[in-house]
Amino acid sequence: MASPPALSDDGISVFWHEGMLNHDAGSGVFDTGHDPGFLDVLEKHPENSDRIRNMVSILRRGPLSSHISWHSGRLALISELHSFHTPEYINELMEADKEGGKKVCLGTFLNPGSLVAALLAAGTTLSAMKHILDGDGKIAYALVRPPGHHAQPTQADGYCFLNNAGLAVQLALDSGCQKAVIIDIDVHYGNGTAEGFYHSNKVLTISLHMNHGSWGPSHPQSGSIDELGENEGLGYNLNIPLPNGSGDKCYAYAMAELVVPAVQKFEPHMIVLVVGQDSSAFDPNGRQCLTMDGYRNIGRVVRGLANRHSGGRLLIVQEGGYHITYSAYCLHATLEGVLNLPLPMLSDPIAYYPEDEAFAVEVIESIKRYQKDTVPFLKEA
Ligand SMILES: [Zn+2]
Repeated sequence: MASPPALSDDGISVFWHEGMLNHDAGSGVFDTGHDPGFLDVLEKHPENSDRIRNMVSILRRGPLSSHISWHSGRLALISELHSFHTPEYINELMEADKEGGKKVCLGTFLNPGSLVAALLAAGTTLSAMKHILDGDGKIAYALVRPPGHHAQPTQADGYCFLNNAGLAVQLALDSGCQKAVIIDIDVHYGNGTAEGFYHSNKVLTISLHMNHGSWGPSHPQSGSIDELGENEGLGYNLNIPLPNGSGDKCYAYAMAELVVPAVQKFEPHMIVLVVGQDSSAFDPNGRQCLTMDGYRNIGRVVRGLANRHSGGRLLIVQEGGYHITYSAYCLHATLEGVLNLPLPMLSDPIAYYPEDEAFAVEVIESIKRYQKDTVPFLKEA
């Protein structure tokens, strides 16, 4: 009998639990939950289980499957949540769940089953981080929903209830890791994660996002370049708002000119890639133009940083990404890049928009000048 294909030395450990499919954010006009009465076809909320089911199946049955090992996720304990969130906020979530759920904020619905799914997302991400901390593997991917990077210590925001990546990074710090970097490429500002570590110089948070600004009381942060962190944390939150329409070349330029130099100077012991496929050219929730090639390149660059700085230790955490098909393809491409595979394993079925990067390059150059003038740890000696 033929033996199963050997797991490559540097495969990816994927942490997953199907209970996360039970969060149902409802349907309506896009993410509003509203039925205007004159549409025959209401759409599922963009943060629905279909998007994640395709991510699971492409990793199980797609070309990368022999590089993947599967690990079961788990529920987070309530006590574990207090490392990032206030007890008052966690109590609010539990009360809302007991009362049968509610709309927590714009577009964000806690329905029956949602809290358990959120606890599974948090616990699964913690398990993935522990796997790395224990030395059981170097690269782990927490395939989780609901997403987490908008969830702040005191409130939910933007489809997110618990900050999965933030909890995992706090676990790393509590386990003796001295410095971690979080690189967030979801199309939206990782405001919740930034807020959680805003006063810390142990966690460098870097977010590349479209320039969407604040979207109301649940998201007071603007994501602009001058939100740099405070006190000891000054300079350790680097925002990279990119012009609408930024694509593969622009992201590659931003990674090379802004992200890589900052990470090199910071010298982290742990790297966390917070990945959202809503930066793709076909996402209904973003205005950026990454294709599979762009995601592949980002995966490769981040893997290079991990090899140089964190002994290869890299946690990848799933966030947004709402095109049901292309999100899965872009995830596959990102992981191909992380594995440094020499040739694309999966071709891009729909990338066809041209890219004009000239304006984005100018913006990146101006962000670079601003950071060099303003951020103490980036100032040249
Ligand atoms: Zn997003």
